[in-house]
Amino acid sequence: MNPNDQYFQQQQPGYGAPALGQNYGGMLAPPTRTPVMQNQPQQFPPSNGPNSMNPYGQPSPRPPMAQYGHSPLPPQATNPHQLAQQMGGMNLGDNSLKSPVPSMYPPMNGNVSPAPGSFPPRHPMASNLQASPMPPQPITPGMAPPRPGLMPPMQQQMGLASPQQYQNGPGMDNMGPPVNGQQFASPRPPMGAGFPASQPSGFPGHPPMPFQQQPPVQQQPQQQQGGYDSMGSRYPSSPSYPPGMSGPIPGPNSQPMPSQQQARRLDPDQMPSAIQVMEDDKRSRSGPFATNQKGLVPPLVTTPFVTQDQGNSGPRFVRSSMYSVPALPDMMKQTAVPFGLVISPFAQLEEGEQPPPVVDMGELGPVRCGRCKAYMCPFMQFIDGGRRFQCPFCKATSEVPAEYFQHLDHTGMRMDKYQRPELCLGSYEFVGTKDYCRNNVFPKPPAYIFVLDVSYNNVKSGLVHLLCQNIKSILQGLPRESINGQKSRVGFITYSKEVHFYNIKSSLAQPQMMVVGDVEDMFMPLLDGFLCDPVESENIIDQLMVQIPAMFADSRETETILGPAIKAGLEALKAAECVGKLLVFHSSLPIAEAPGRLKSRDERKLLGTEKEKTVLSPQTTFYNQLGQECAGFGCRIDLFVANNAFVDLATIGQVARLTGGQVYKYTYFQADLDGERLVEDVRRNVEQTVAFDSIMRVRTSTGVRPVDFYGHFFMSNTTDVETAGIDSDQAMTIEIKHDDKLTDEDGVYIQVAVLFTSPGGQRRLRIHNLALSVCNQMADLYRSCDLDTVMNLLMKQSVTKLTESTPKQIRDVLINRSAQILACYRKNCASPSSPGQLILPECMKLLPLYINCLLNCDALSGGSDMSIDDRTFNMFAVQTMHVGASLAYLYPRLVPLLESSTPAAAEDSPLMLPSPVRCTVDKLRDDGVYCLDNGIHMFLWIGLSVSPEWIHGVFNTNSAAQIDIDRTKLLELDNARSQEVRCVINQLRSTRQRHMRLTLVRPRDKLEFVFRKFLVEDKHGDASSSYVDFLCHLHKEIRNLLN
Ligand SMILES: [Zn+2]
Repeated sequence: MNPNDQYFQQQQPGYGAPALGQNYGGMLAPPTRTPVMQNQPQQFPPSNGPNSMNPYGQPSPRPPMAQYGHSPLPPQATNPHQLAQQMGGMNLGDNSLKSPVPSMYPPMNGNVSPAPGSFPPRHPMASNLQASPMPPQPITPGMAPPRPGLMPPMQQQMGLASPQQYQNGPGMDNMGPPVNGQQFASPRPPMGAGFPASQPSGFPGHPPMPFQQQPPVQQQPQQQQGGYDSMGSRYPSSPSYPPGMSGPIPGPNSQPMPSQQQARRLDPDQMPSAIQVMEDDKRSRSGPFATNQKGLVPPLVTTPFVTQDQGNSGPRFVRSSMYSVPALPDMMKQTAVPFGLVISPFAQLEEGEQPPPVVDMGELGPVRCGRCKAYMCPFMQFIDGGRRFQCPFCKATSEVPAEYFQHLDHTGMRMDKYQRPELCLGSYEFVGTKDYCRNNVFPKPPAYIFVLDVSYNNVKSGLVHLLCQNIKSILQGLPRESINGQKSRVGFITYSKEVHFYNIKSSLAQPQMMVVGDVEDMFMPLLDGFLCDPVESENIIDQLMVQIPAMFADSRETETILGPAIKAGLEALKAAECVGKLLVFHSSLPIAEAPGRLKSRDERKLLGTEKEKTVLSPQTTFYNQLGQECAGFGCRIDLFVANNAFVDLATIGQVARLTGGQVYKYTYFQADLDGERLVEDVRRNVEQTVAFDSIMRVRTSTGVRPVDFYGHFFMSNTTDVETAGIDSDQAMTIEIKHDDKLTDEDGVYIQVAVLFTSPGGQRRLRIHNLALSVCNQMADLYRSCDLDTVMNLLMKQSVTKLTESTPKQIRDVLINRSAQILACYRKNCASPSSPGQLILPECMKLLPLYINCLLNCDALSGGSDMSIDDRTFNMFAVQTMHVGASLAYLYPRLVPLLESSTPAAAEDSPLMLPSPVRCTVDKLRDDGVYCLDNGIHMFLWIGLSVSPEWIHGVFNTNSAAQIDIDRTKLLELDNARSQEVRCVINQLRSTRQRHMRLTLVRPRDKLEFVFRKFLVEDKHGDASSSYVDFLCHLHKEIRNLLN
């Protein structure tokens, strides 16, 4: 699209839209060019005509960041002229920043053939395995290695100095921390008492095949009460509880049951299985998924599908917890099913999926609703011969800018509908005009600054050396998109107690270092030569990467700063007048005298208690303020923490949280063991950051509105979600409130608009649209739920509450809510049956399982067996997870490596991975090898009876007992077994966003306890329930509610 193509640009005052002093610009002038898109797809479902006249709902008053009590950053100043021009209409515009540039995206999507919209029934399933006893072992804390003593710092301060001058200090050996880990004691807990078996009723030896199949979701059957159990699953009654029992119930999994009881006890294999649900969905829903109807329930996240965008955004970008929303708020409330969206605006696509096309409307800019400022989309309805359009979000009608005018055909569709992505696709981008840019100036390409702690810990662990050694290849992954000839630039800062900047200008013979010793008031001493094109300055950077490790090789500095180092990076971006990101490699609690100095408060015994929130909340607001300042300037911070003692991640991690950054943690980092992981994480981080300086606004049709936001971002008002940078792995979760009646003709419309700067420096808007159905029957709601999305929302909500409520309160809320969801279904949608029977809605039959997983996950309930930093790390990690990641986190993937004959292995999975099995010790065979991962941890469990040939082939030892389990990498042996295993591990890893360290475990190794914690269907310790126990417990709660 050539900007010259436009003829015409006229401004119409009615279209801009300032909001709270900011706006996304919004002029209007239509384009003429016919953009992209060629192909004439099939018909697009007509958007429904809106009627009522309700303006956009008001944002909720709840201040999103309340708990940290900061005042929001001042809004970006808007050009007064522009403001005056754009005022008018509702104040709902977005923040502004701007910048157009020629588009670089591939042109349009091809057409897509519509896929059948029907939703096949999900099948019940059943598998079998025998239970085997395996009591967990408690873990003993222990950790925190001694910190090295203080050593005299040795560096000059201030002024220019050539790098060579900085050396000194004898090296220190032997101060390092222990590696790898914790120590585990292994007392055995008392064995669980058997399970008080109970009503044998209904539990014949067969899986209760309970469910009659669920009818296709799409056709809203209007059955009457009683007819609905067709979509439910029936389970036999739960065992009765001993009177007075509350809390966790002893599990059945600990001891083999006496045989006469065996028949009576609940068989875990008869409980709904996550693996079976995934397999069934895979079988019935793999392949193309066409988004041509509102309210289409997408395949599960675990199913391989290819989105065909036919007017709604694909589920990789936006997932809703329900696709059919009850017309009445009261019905929604009764069911207690959470309503939310998980949005991954820049999600990676699968092969065969088209990236959203870029539409350049030239000076006209995107066409928007005159009132609510929603962007042109397939849901807008053209009327009055094409001269006006009605907005489905606020119902207002707006004039079509002359340049955008097009005649309508006999069906009322614009003749150019299929030539314009914004009229026929769910996802697309617009090039932003100047009005969408910060200060009305087109941005420069974002910069990447490496900020490296070169104090003793990082030097000793090998991190400094490793990173410098790999920078060259990491930089090769930098996006090289170039707009107007400008490319991304990089810069380097090192620090310990002072901050060092480097001049890497390509014209220098060698790099130069500048030291700022006065860290109280950080400034940028180097205006020219700090940020450079990594290709032009390649030689200088190469030299610098050799010199840095040499200069600091003998560092004995153990007192470090952090705040000033981040501030230094921020100042560098400010001086260069560009946005960007800092990759900060930090190792210890910042205790040096400087802004942001912290105290140690490593009171891990508080974890799991009512007081845990005190250590899970920041100890000072310094890092929140710094994070907000960075966010306001478009400076994203990614924290790579390689600590071997308490670093107070809960406090320092705020800088990442508020800027849209990620937190990575490498406890007891040792270059030889964790190096690959760190380098791969950095590489991915650099490659995946796709959108800088972003502002997201979610618009909804009337009757529903976004109220709560979860993720890593900053909000200076109640509607705009700002991040300094968002990557393709990140998601934001939004809770939607339903507070007004909806009508079926209208449906529920959602538009997500993200204004951002591309890595090449182009200002663009990415728009995602999704239409949901409205239902009058509760059963339709239960039939259209996406449980994985429900869990993502519940998980983020619960974790967020950790810093305000007690663990018990959070737990109770989760249990009560799930009981209410299921009781409401039972009461209103299932046919009458014995109260002893547990009836679960088909789409939610795994709710009890997943809730139990959530109650026991590290982020929510990690106790004093983990460090506070590890707990906090889990909490941060969870907040940015998309639905696939949160599902894996709750229900880890357990893959048998030796059972390659598993049926689904080859055909279903594009990766040819063996099919996973249920996460329970019952599935582990002593002659088997299993790989378990949850996106953060990865274990390889090796049974003691595995064939010696296999062990020899893979580990080059004669028995499992001889394997060196401290390794984190498999040997690269030249034989088929070794290759196959490494290949599977690599494939499993490639599906996750973090490079997981591989931990080898054998039965009875001390680390097996940790591994066992991830077998989430089992009971672990006194404080948790097994899946079966929990299901029974929940059933009891449901019965209480029904009585
Ligand atoms: Zn509108």
